[in-house]
Amino acid sequence: MKRNLKDYTLEELENMVTAELKQPKFRGKQIFTWLYRGVTDFSQMTDLSKPLREQLEETYSLGNLTVVKKYCSKLDETRRYLLQLEDGNYIESVLMKYHHGYTICISSQVGCAMGCAFCASTRGGKKRNLTAGEIVGQVMAVQRDLGERISNIVMMGIGEPLDNYDQVLKFLEIVNHPLGLNVGHRHISLSTCGLAEKIRHLADRDLQITLSVSLHATNDEKRSAIMPINRKYPIGILMDACRYYIKKTNRRISFEYTLIEGVNDGEADAAELIGLLKGMLCHVNLIPVNPTGAKGIRQGSRKSVEGFQKLLEMGGLTATIRREMGSDIQAACGQLRAQAEEDA
Ligand code: SAH
Repeated sequence: MKRNLKDYTLEELENMVTAELKQPKFRGKQIFTWLYRGVTDFSQMTDLSKPLREQLEETYSLGNLTVVKKYCSKLDETRRYLLQLEDGNYIESVLMKYHHGYTICISSQVGCAMGCAFCASTRGGKKRNLTAGEIVGQVMAVQRDLGERISNIVMMGIGEPLDNYDQVLKFLEIVNHPLGLNVGHRHISLSTCGLAEKIRHLADRDLQITLSVSLHATNDEKRSAIMPINRKYPIGILMDACRYYIKKTNRRISFEYTLIEGVNDGEADAAELIGLLKGMLCHVNLIPVNPTGAKGIRQGSRKSVEGFQKLLEMGGLTATIRREMGSDIQAACGQLRAQAEEDA
């Protein structure tokens, strides 16, 4: 298979054109600029000679992702995209409209290995990691379809981003570059189910992104029952890593807490959560669990969700309830699927 030019940082492209194409270094910058202006064909790179474009095309691809299907919500302006990668695999991305502009929720892997009980993305396991170019390719493909700039990115789609650490970090570099998509790190959120070691590595990079941590339970017994990763990184270890992250970056962590009726939404759970997070530079994002067909996973009433939020606030935490978007098109949290090809 041809090598995806979107897998290269600007520096890597400059090295590649000098070493492999025997071209001056500035050609790297020209190619990089074209990629993120959104060219979908080599012929559009008009300041490169025809022979050079042909030479490039022989070995390299532009990493275009194909929009196979687009589902538009009738409830809000959310759209779910089924995208095909160059090797034939499928992933999904979700576009959401907010008053401040468009946010895209992107995937980091084909499938997911984490096995959370309430999440559909993990049911078929993990097929493979996405490359940096495939991650940025989602933004490019959806932006092209939309015809408008996407200003915010959340890495909350299919996959565990910190289980694909190197490619995700490279993606963050490319997408942030002024000649790339120029999306500021402050406009990017990364969500993890709690790979404590990688949270520490990320902390050492001191990026301005928002880290979201999927907590969902407040003691090891409950958390391990719904999130297998907790057996490897129990809550104590995870919270230590979170405190380290806050100390290093001085950034507020957003803790996601998916409320599952009768499992983690009681008064005692709220009290434990307050005990765990009180005094930390953080925010709690409550997500009423979305149906995925899993047994015993039900959404509580709106009243109970609001009651839980109130308890947290009385306990001194700041907590918001995540607005459910695109649930009629299976685009809400936890509903994206690795087996998306069933749709194709
Ligand atoms: N692997 C990362 C990225 C996924 S982000 C992570 O776990 O954080 C998606 C968010 O939606 C996570 O907080 C995840 O736990 C949550 N989620 C998964 N399934 C859900 C469901 N059925 N209802 C509501 N939220 C869900």
